[in-house]
Amino acid sequence: MIVLVDSHCHLDAAEFDADRDDVIARARAAGVTVQVIPAIARAGFGQLRDLCAAHAGLHAAYGLHPMYLAEHRPEHLVALREWLARERAVAVGECGLDFFVEGLDGDEQRRYFSGQLELAREFELPVIVHARRAVDEVIATIRRIGGLRGVVHSFSGSAEQARQLWNLGFLIGLGGPITYERANKLRGLVATMPLEFLLLETDAPDQPLATHRGERNEPAYLGEVATTVAALRGTGVDDIARATSENARRLFSLAAA
Ligand code: ZN
Repeated sequence: MIVLVDSHCHLDAAEFDADRDDVIARARAAGVTVQVIPAIARAGFGQLRDLCAAHAGLHAAYGLHPMYLAEHRPEHLVALREWLARERAVAVGECGLDFFVEGLDGDEQRRYFSGQLELAREFELPVIVHARRAVDEVIATIRRIGGLRGVVHSFSGSAEQARQLWNLGFLIGLGGPITYERANKLRGLVATMPLEFLLLETDAPDQPLATHRGERNEPAYLGEVATTVAALRGTGVDDIARATSENARRLFSLAAA
């Protein structure tokens, strides 16, 4: 059976409150043995820590997500620093820039993003980045801060932007969107890119696959993402599973399964 790492899954989200244990059990039964769970706001750090402590294979990242800008306060960056000094974290994130959602102040987003990149560098942790309509600026910011590694999750940029990220020590995360046949640009990229820079993700409960349109997404569906990647590259799904799981273990310093 194949073993997969879901490199980006919001298992702590309220959408899973009613059946979280079942969701985890279904993921394990489907060979998805590990989930990396990035925080979205300071208020959720404690619950996320407790969730990861209660289940093998769940790993927390802590950060301030740009879409939840209204919940963030400057002192939350201070709290994040204290948290990272004290708690086990596999990454800083989810952080980044979102210029797609209206009403999110750009400069405020930039301050939180740069502040979190500096924390990632200070703690020598990888960073989990959200970039929507903002890939060029994310690349420029990563380059300016320097000394970073990480992943741009749910990557939606061009092949050239992907190459720039790889040269900066970043991987790209791909999930549900590549299962849609109209996603020509992404599917072309995943068909030809070096496998060493690829992470698989569900972003559950968001970004459902083409076969589960309109439903809550689940980590158990990650195998379909792997199957899609394998089909696009004309290779076996076990090769994709092995390579992407190894990439995730290397980036997040996870112990071997
Ligand atoms: Zn996310």
